[in-house]
Amino acid sequence: MELWQELLRQSIDTAEDFAEVFGVDKDLMRKIIERYPARINPYYLSLIRYKGDPIWLQCFPDIKELEDEAMPEDPLDEDAMSPVPSITHRYPDRVLFLVTSQCSMYCRFCTRKRKVGDSSKINMKFIQDGIEYIRNHPEVRDVILSGGDPLMLTDYMLEKIIKALREIPHVEIIRIGTKMPCVLPQRITENLCNMLKKYHPIYVNTHFNHPWEITPESKRACEMLADAGIPVGNQTVLLRGVNDDPYVMQELMKKLLAIRVRPYYIYQADITRGANHFRTPIKVGIEIMDKLRGHISGLAVPYYVIDAPGGGGKIPILPQYVIAHNENEIIVRNFKYEIYVYPDVKEDEIEEIRYEPKPTAEKRKIIERKKWLVE
Ligand SMILES: *Cc1c(COP(=O)(O)O)cnc(C)c1O
Ligand code: SF4
Repeated sequence: MELWQELLRQSIDTAEDFAEVFGVDKDLMRKIIERYPARINPYYLSLIRYKGDPIWLQCFPDIKELEDEAMPEDPLDEDAMSPVPSITHRYPDRVLFLVTSQCSMYCRFCTRKRKVGDSSKINMKFIQDGIEYIRNHPEVRDVILSGGDPLMLTDYMLEKIIKALREIPHVEIIRIGTKMPCVLPQRITENLCNMLKKYHPIYVNTHFNHPWEITPESKRACEMLADAGIPVGNQTVLLRGVNDDPYVMQELMKKLLAIRVRPYYIYQADITRGANHFRTPIKVGIEIMDKLRGHISGLAVPYYVIDAPGGGGKIPILPQYVIAHNENEIIVRNFKYEIYVYPDVKEDEIEEIRYEPKPTAEKRKIIERKKWLVE
């Protein structure tokens, strides 16, 4: 058994475990876990510094999860956009492909908490149906392996899926959405990297939410992926009490860049049943973006997006940089709130630019010469 599998086996995941390790009420724990599974592996557990800290809040079952019954279970209408159970097809050219429902840690704020951990929801037949769907849809050029956490599969299973996808000519890129570099970095092994790099272009998007999650182990995992030629991006969820602070986010984004991970998205927390206590006002997200752009490397600045309820997809939200805009000029402000007037281009000038003038005799000669070169 590999180290990561051994660590998984030692996870705290039953009401008895929680009662024994933390001295919490067993029956209460059972009530929460029956509805929304919990798992804290020993590595992630070691990151907790005190009760109620930003790591604790992400992984420790909370009675509040059972209290909000008003929120929808499937806020993004993923099930409605599922032509087969393992596929969510929302955008024209790319699909989410759910290959497992298991995770090495069950995030209390997860958008898919209605589904994760329930192995009846995903099986081999579902995976085959997903591959078949992608094969029959030539418009799909980008496949995002998701779940659950795809890296819960063994290297052997994962390779079977990736190999099958690579054999489909219209699949150009394969992405893997995995929280492993953050929650169980021991999962990133030499063998895994050697396998993945046979199937380039492969991209990984991982999921760090707090600077304390960046450790020597997670650094090593991200660098191994980068060394295998895999660009690694990060998706953060904006969470109350965890990272709803511009300076925490600045530190997180800078630290990610330093371990060769490119910040990609900050998500507004979805309106998911059982996770409402993590939501923040939108203005908190806008304030964070305002303190990122211009203040830290542009490379470290992700997009802040809202996943529109009802399946509208991700919509970026920006601080207000435009103060006024008329046909002559645009008035903008920079990251220091200094105001600038920038002359705009008039519509009739645009018309002139838009209509290509007929090639002159000189230009025609050049075109002729190029034709000859090509032939
Ligand atoms: C997020 C998401 C994608 C990927 O979106 P990008 O903006 O290309 O990263 C694709 N499909 C679904 C259903 C998604 O939720
Ligand atoms: S690892 Fe991802 S899918 Fe699993 S519980 Fe966390 S957010 Fe949800």
